[in-house]
Amino acid sequence: MSEHVWCHGPHCHTQDTQDRIRGVKGSKVLRTRKVAQNQWNSGDRISMYSYFCSQGCYNDFANTHIERVIAIAPRTEALETPIEVTKEQRTDWSGNSYYQTEINRVDNNGG
Ligand SMILES: [Zn+2]
Repeated sequence: MSEHVWCHGPHCHTQDTQDRIRGVKGSKVLRTRKVAQNQWNSGDRISMYSYFCSQGCYNDFANTHIERVIAIAPRTEALETPIEVTKEQRTDWSGNSYYQTEINRVDNNGG
């Protein structure tokens, strides 16, 4: 009694893999994969792997429906992360000095 959903990849049923073959001789088909719902992809761990059998099927879905996917949360302005940039002088293994750029987040909420 395992719970599952069908993979939402629009082309999942067109991939030539043995595990997708169903039916009897003379009427065989390639069938959409089942995605088992388990402790790794359900509840608090819900993710793309709750609905897609593979990264490829996820990409196919996103590419097919990209306009609607973007409409869920359109980005109309750039986001910014406050940082401080410092250059630290260091010495490499052969004794030559060089500058290492360090990027540190600035905590705006900490006061
Ligand atoms: Zn799939």
